[in-house]
This record gives sequence, C-alpha cells and structure tokens, in this order.
Amino acid sequence: MKPYDAIVIGAGMSGLAAALRLALFDKRVCLLEKHELWGGLNSFYTLDGHAFDVGLHALTNYVPARTKGAPLTKVLRQLRLRHDEFRLGEHHHSELRVPGVTLSFSNDFGLLESEVARAFPDQVDGFRRLAQAVREYELDEEERDDPSGRAMLATYLSDPLLIDALLVPLLYYGSARENDVDWSQLVVLFKSIFLEGLCRPEGGIRPFLNVLIKRLRGTSVDLRMRSGVRRILHDGGRAFGVELESGEVLEAACILSSAGYVESMRMCGADAERAHVATTDRGRLSFVESISVLDRDPIALGHTAATVFYSTRTPFRYERPNTLVDTTSGVISAPSNFASEKPLKENLLRVTVLANHDRWCALDDEAYAREKEQLADAAIAEAASITSDWRAATTYRDVFTPRTIRRFTGHDGGCVYGSPTKRKSGATPIDGLFLTGTDQGYLGVVGAMMSGIAMANRHVVTASSRTPASTGATT
Ligand SMILES: Cc1cc2nc3c(=O)[nH]c(=O)nc-3n(C[C@H](O)[C@H](O)[C@H](O)COP(=O)(O)OP(=O)(O)OC[C@H]3O[C@@H](n4cnc5c(N)ncnc54)[C@H](O)[C@@H]3O)c2cc1C
Repeated sequence: MKPYDAIVIGAGMSGLAAALRLALFDKRVCLLEKHELWGGLNSFYTLDGHAFDVGLHALTNYVPARTKGAPLTKVLRQLRLRHDEFRLGEHHHSELRVPGVTLSFSNDFGLLESEVARAFPDQVDGFRRLAQAVREYELDEEERDDPSGRAMLATYLSDPLLIDALLVPLLYYGSARENDVDWSQLVVLFKSIFLEGLCRPEGGIRPFLNVLIKRLRGTSVDLRMRSGVRRILHDGGRAFGVELESGEVLEAACILSSAGYVESMRMCGADAERAHVATTDRGRLSFVESISVLDRDPIALGHTAATVFYSTRTPFRYERPNTLVDTTSGVISAPSNFASEKPLKENLLRVTVLANHDRWCALDDEAYAREKEQLADAAIAEAASITSDWRAATTYRDVFTPRTIRRFTGHDGGCVYGSPTKRKSGATPIDGLFLTGTDQGYLGVVGAMMSGIAMANRHVVTASSRTPASTGATT
C-alpha cells in the first residue's frame, strides 16, 4: 500500500485539527484513535441517561468573530470553520477565591483590573505592568530556557495572596509543573483566560466535536477508530510507520503523535524509552472530578459564577498530594452560568481537585469505589463551604479519578497536562516523529487545536506548497 503523507496518532483536539488542516492541502492522512469515541481528554459519555462531557468546563481564548490575531480566529481560519458554527456563550463572570478575598473577572479585562484595585490597592500598578508584559510577549514555537512563571509574577507583584489568587486558574488550567508554570506558558494562560476569556459551546463538547467530525468526514482523511497504535516503527533513527494493536502495519513519511512524549517514546521501544526519557519528563499531576446533577438552577442556590477557582488555604499548593486527593483547592464549574440560547438539559456542577494517581491505582475495586464517593463528598463539602451548598439539591453524581483518565486517554499517571517538559518545536529524538497537543506545549481545547495546526504546518505542509489545494486560498 502506498505510504500516507502523515499518520496522526489520537483523535483528540490536536489530532483532529492536525488531520483537518492536512486535508486542506490534499495530504494523504490516516488518523488513528484507539477508542471508539473521539475527543480524547475532551470527549463525552452517557451514564444512566445523563449526558456528560469528560473535560469541558470552559473554552478559553474566547474572542468575538474576526478578532484579528487571536488564537481562536487563527484556528477557525486555518481550518475553514465559522465562529457561529460553535454557538459560543460567554461567561457572565467567574471568581478567584483565596482566604479572605474574592476577585470577580469576566471577558472584559477591566473588571479584573478594578477588582485588583479594590482588594489590593497597592498592587494594581504592578498588575497593570504585568498585563502589559503579557500583551507584548511574542509567542513562538522555538525551544528556549524559560524562567519560572512564579518568579516572574513576583517581579510585578509583592502580595503573596494576589499571586496565589492569579496562580489558581493559571496552574489549574494548564500547568504540568508542580507549584509553578513556565513563563511562556503563563503568558499563554493569562492571555487565554483573562485577556481573551471564557465561553462554552452551546450543548457542550458534543456539538463542538460534531462540527469537526462532519468536516473531517467530508475530506479524504482516513479516520480509523478502535485502532490503537502498538509500536512506532523506525529504522536508523527515522520513523517510517506504525504497527496497530491488530498487527496491521501502516507507513507514512511523517508521524504526528498526540499520545504524549513519554508514551510515544515507549511506542518506539524499550531502548528508545531508556535512552530518551528522563524522570523529569514524567508528569505527576492529575485530578479527581465530580459532576453533580441538580434539581434546580445553581443560581437559585446562590451560585452565580460560571467558574470558581479557589484555594481555602494559603499558600496555595499545586502539587501531587500524598493522600488520594487534596481538597483545599480546586475549580467549580457551572455550565448553566454561561450564556446560552437554549437552556441546558440538566443543571450540573463540576468540582475538580488535585489527586494522586499511584494511590488511586493501588486500591482494590471495593476500596476504590468507596473512596471515590467519600472523597467526592469531602471535596464537595469544602467547595460548597466557600460558595453555596448544593448537596441537598443533588439527584445524581458521577466521579472520575486519575485511574479513569489513564484508562480512557492512555496518558501515563492520568496526567491531563502531560510532561512538565514541553517540546515546542514538536521534535523528538526520532526523525519524522513529532509531538502535537499537550506535550508540544499548547493546552486546552483551543490550544490543542492550535498545536495540531502548527505542527501539521511546520512538519508536513512546509515541505510542499503552502496553498491549500481544496480552496486555493493562502494561509
Ligand atoms: C477533567 C478535565 C477538565 C478539563 N477542562 C478543560 C476546560 O475546561 N477547557 C479546556 O479548554 N480544556 C480542558 N481540559 C484539557 C483539554 O481537554 C486538553 O488539554 C486537550 O483536550 C488535549 O488534547 P490533545 O489532543 O493534546 O490530547 P488528548 O485529548 O489526550 O488526545 C490524545 C488522543 O490520543 C489517543 N491515543 C493515545 N494513545 C494512543 C495510541 N497508542 N493509539 C491510538 N490513539 C491513542 C487517546 O485515546 C486520545 O484520544 C480538561 C481536561 C480534563 C481531563
């Protein structure tokens, strides 16, 4: 069989975007996904008649249609998608909560600025300088030594409580590093959460994915579900194909893997993993998330924020706990508190807290089921203590743990944000094998899609013409 131009491993957001982008250039692409559903960390499922999203709290990077230079605009343009296809509803407001302080923010950056001026008057000049530095930072895909984001924050701000308040969303929405985040990553997150903003596609992630899948099905991309890659084949340091779980071999000039750096090296064989994976490449952070179905709108309970990022202790610790979970910080997400033309089918509140993958995996099935419920109770009790108590209004609940995340996405350690070492060029020690998605460095739905497009452009498209064959338009 004639080799493909590219094989893409994983039909998560980055893999879908990479395949779609390559199809616009008439590349022969095979997109391989080991599960029966697409979406990866942002997939969906139905349990006892309840339709849940796996990962979606909010889409970051919200900007109105045609906003020049913004990541969302670039993603839509490069995939030939329209803003209105996704029916994005903005949050009215969200909150940062640390002991004694609540700061509201919205997609109007002025709100956060005025909240900082109110709660931390001596910090607001530094906060403005920080925002300016973030605006002026030019992002690229070049490898360089990145300073600590926490240390950089401290050059603008002196109040540790404000630094903590800002770090809760910046770390929870994208840091694979314990208690810190690389400065360039902090810039990406600050822009995407505070300077651009939060929104939610109407109906959640299913309709969002439906748009991508429908578009993909109209192209020549060979989308193969239930097609796990067992091995990445390479010879003389160059990748030339993959072997599937079924034993089938597929060949390609280029392989883009969204499985993660460590996981991809393992697929290259034990020698490659030994030679090229350091302890520092392995992520340690994972989460437990509970989804409560409520018999009423959270607003009726007094919970008005779309997202609450909180730490009930100071200093805020963002690290793998020694226990199964750490309930002292987290994120509360209320999907119904985003603008939407249609009301949600069910009222939901999601609570995400830090968790220890190895401890969850050491439990036998009985202890696992028991601890899941008890610790979700504990996490919700702590979260409810800082907003409104929704427990009496709960009619159903599902809980997932690092064990679930690993099982359904294949990410070692259930690490949502992958390896702490990001490889911005996408290059790996094996020629022809490139990373896309989480371990390349862009995270979240929009970030992962940007990564897929950037890696497809850089490693597959640039070798030939940059004019999409199907449209004749330039990029
Ligand atoms: C609980 C939770 C909450 C989140 N909240 C948000 C949020 O509110 N907003 C937001 O923007 N982002 C959120 N995210 C993060 C976001 O989902 C991810 O950053 C993004 O989806 C990552 O996409 P990806 O393509 O890089 O990786 P993945 O989604 O992990 O995709 C990788 C794919 O590769 C497949 N795969 C792995 N190994 C193989 C193999 N050997 N063969 C074939 N296929 C393979 C996997 O099954 C998977 O489908 C959340 C994630 C979680 C888990």
